[in-house]
Amino acid sequence: MDMKTVTRFAPSPTGFMHVGSLRTALFAWFVAKKNDGKFILRIEDTDKNREVEGSIEHIIKTLETLNINFDEGPNKPGDNAPYLQSERLDIYLEWGNKLIEKGRAYADPYSEEEVGEFREEAKANKHAFLFRNYRPENPPKWDGKTALRFKSDPKPYRWHDEIMGDLSAGPEAVDDFILIKADGYPTYNFAHIVDDMLMNVTHIIRSQEFIASVPRFLNLYEALEIEHPVFATVPPVMGPDGKKKLSKRDGAKDVLDYISEGYLIETLINFIASLGWNDGTTQEIYSVDEIKNKFELSHVQKSGANFDDKRLLWMNGAHIRNLSLDELYELVKDKLPKEAEKFDKEYKKKVVGLLQERLKTLNEIDELSTFFFEEPIVNLSLIEEHKQLSKEDKGDLKDWLTKAKETLEQSDFSIEDLTNKLNTLLEQTGTKPVVLFSLIRIATTHSPQSPGLFDTLNLLGKEKTLGRLEKTLLEIK
Ligand code: GLU
Repeated sequence: MDMKTVTRFAPSPTGFMHVGSLRTALFAWFVAKKNDGKFILRIEDTDKNREVEGSIEHIIKTLETLNINFDEGPNKPGDNAPYLQSERLDIYLEWGNKLIEKGRAYADPYSEEEVGEFREEAKANKHAFLFRNYRPENPPKWDGKTALRFKSDPKPYRWHDEIMGDLSAGPEAVDDFILIKADGYPTYNFAHIVDDMLMNVTHIIRSQEFIASVPRFLNLYEALEIEHPVFATVPPVMGPDGKKKLSKRDGAKDVLDYISEGYLIETLINFIASLGWNDGTTQEIYSVDEIKNKFELSHVQKSGANFDDKRLLWMNGAHIRNLSLDELYELVKDKLPKEAEKFDKEYKKKVVGLLQERLKTLNEIDELSTFFFEEPIVNLSLIEEHKQLSKEDKGDLKDWLTKAKETLEQSDFSIEDLTNKLNTLLEQTGTKPVVLFSLIRIATTHSPQSPGLFDTLNLLGKEKTLGRLEKTLLEIK
């Protein structure tokens, strides 16, 4: 029988979604979509002490903003509802009772203090603490007021992880663990196994913190007489130096912050997917559909992936350049300077088109386009600090600028005519383009950077260009 691929993203609602958790979600989504399968969002809210209010909504909003569509989830109920583990407590109880009946679970009769003492004792004897060494001989009947523990059957295991390869552990990795806590909530160890089984999950894609517990999980799968899903353990996201895990200082922030800073959805998905994954070629820029088609868990590297925000910025520029002008315009039209309101769409679109090559984030459009919409304040320090212009004599600068103005007065401001006339002026003055053209550029934009000179002047038009040259000339003393 061909089994339908089912993956899930199972976050605990303990805060915002950072790059690491988004990557786990993405990989699970890719695996489901590539195989025409199903992707489920399940909220693992069984630790009420760690829960942060608003996280569930935030997780859903993040996935929706990035168009990572889940087929079933809290706000999209399907066959496997409910999707909040806190709403599935009766299910865990039922499976806990089944394990009791099978003789594979027992009431934990000990207080926390007593377990603490066992731990101390094991430490004093230089043994690793294993609860099963203290397993009570005649545990009381479980009344739901104490913890319910799994009765393990220790043995060595070998298993395969799609990313980490073949792994093994000795019987010491298998112990009696809590299935249901005294507060009535299940542990992650128990709940995820029950839910994955009932939701027919075929692939568990999760972070590294759970890998050491897999032998315990294998023991429980056996006790429940079920096959375990495919395991895929994703390596950690490391800081830029590759030495320690990504921290807040290195940019481990809310994924939605990147969107408000002007990163494209396509970039974020491309960048986060590439943290640890490649298709075996040197290609770096992918569309979301391309990754979805090419993604293979076996191509995810085992070692940690470095988070490099310079690469993220570069990648964003590359994705911005891949957009059509219409697409880019829609994304930036509300980010243009306020004064842009007074201009028609055609002009604004031309400005955006000229700046497309230079944008690294969408938000940069504001600053980079200001001089197209507002009269700039004359800023001669741009000349004084310019590598070449600062070496020139003030009198010469004034002279060249005057000549430029006279030349431009004769121009029809078509790109062709601007190119011809200004190149002729270059010959006449015997200056270098980096001198003359930078001078005209600064004198008409008063901005540290702008698109190509001829394009810029053509779009500014004759009146504004000449007016600005005039104003600048008055200031050069
Ligand atoms: N609730 C776990 C977490 O947030 C999920 C682990 C899993 O995917 O099974 O880390």
